[in-house]
Amino acid sequence: MKTVTTIAAVRAWRHAHESAVGLVPTMGYLHAGHVSLVERARRENPRVAASLFVNPTQFGPNEDLARYPRDLARDQELLAAAGCDLLFAPSVEEMYPEASQVFVDPGPIAAPLEGGRRPGHFRGVATVVLKLFGIVEPTRAYFGEKDAQQLAVIRRVVRDLDVPVGIVGCPTQRAEDGLALSSRNTYLSPTQRAAAPVLHRALGAGAAAWAGGERRGDALRRAMLDVLDREPLARADYVSAADPATLQEIDAAAGPVLLSMAVFFGKTRLIDNRLLTP
Ligand code: AMP
Repeated sequence: MKTVTTIAAVRAWRHAHESAVGLVPTMGYLHAGHVSLVERARRENPRVAASLFVNPTQFGPNEDLARYPRDLARDQELLAAAGCDLLFAPSVEEMYPEASQVFVDPGPIAAPLEGGRRPGHFRGVATVVLKLFGIVEPTRAYFGEKDAQQLAVIRRVVRDLDVPVGIVGCPTQRAEDGLALSSRNTYLSPTQRAAAPVLHRALGAGAAAWAGGERRGDALRRAMLDVLDREPLARADYVSAADPATLQEIDAAAGPVLLSMAVFFGKTRLIDNRLLTP
């Protein structure tokens, strides 16, 4: 695997062959969730590129940009082992030279849930992903369902701006106790880590209510909150039962429902979700 840091080097690699390219954008500190995306891209494309960029424009002023975990050497090993051909690991200056002024406004789908708690987050995500698409010119790009709203925003950007990249959503990879893998799990103390599977259990309670015929949004949200409330180390930021197309909260479900939540353990904020289908 080759590692490059400049846009020019990515373009040279891209234009050396005609073949399809699968792209996996990441912020690094990789785990088995990221690896599953690279392996999927490997199966579906003759060439695979990954990017590693902790994108400052998607972090709020009081968020964890400065302390976001990093380990380039380990990430390179994991990517190479998973079959990645090219790693693009640019500096902030390479991605945002002083003159850059244009940002992508992803519209109403970015307003609720994560967008409501993290103003500007999806503007930063949509902008950096569109830039990566312009740099790498991938045939397909791979994103985790773990970040369900991010996936919805990217699908919307690609559709509304006619971007010729296939978007592939990939299932959430979990630890044995159900906790969704995340680079941010490394912030958890041992006791917080032991408590963190409560997100998965709360989603399970929502899903059990759904399986029992519950279709009221309030009751689904209540079923999840009841589980979170019983875990003293967990503080719910939001709990949602929303229309997966619009991400608006539902009163009574007529079709599928996306359960999602953000939960604090101390300063660490974890998210998870589960799609319910009739
Ligand atoms: P990040 O490095 O957190 O920006 O994540 C890079 C990509 O990996 C995003 O598309 C995430 O949705 C995806 N991802 C993160 N965690 C998981 C997971 N546990 N399972 C599957 N995909 C994941």
